[in-house]
Amino acid sequence: MTDHLHSNCERLLGSLSEYIDGELNPELCLELEKHLAGCDNCRVVLNTTRRTIDLVHAPVEKPGLPEDVRERLFKRLNLDDYLNPE
Ligand SMILES: [Zn+2]
Repeated sequence: MTDHLHSNCERLLGSLSEYIDGELNPELCLELEKHLAGCDNCRVVLNTTRRTIDLVHAPVEKPGLPEDVRERLFKRLNLDDYLNPE
């Protein structure tokens, strides 16, 4: 992506935790995902943040997945597909 604006990075990364939590509004979600597809830098930040959050959440997550956790998982899976097309 050559039309990448780095001013977007800061703005979008500011919404990253909301995005990971599935609390970001759909429009911004889409914008963020589009941006991530073309921005290695932000992808690294996302992956690092997700890993950190997973570590923090892992011990308290219950085996029977509540609805919102499942939704978040789906979001993550979708995103992974999006980021690592095979
Ligand atoms: Zn970026």
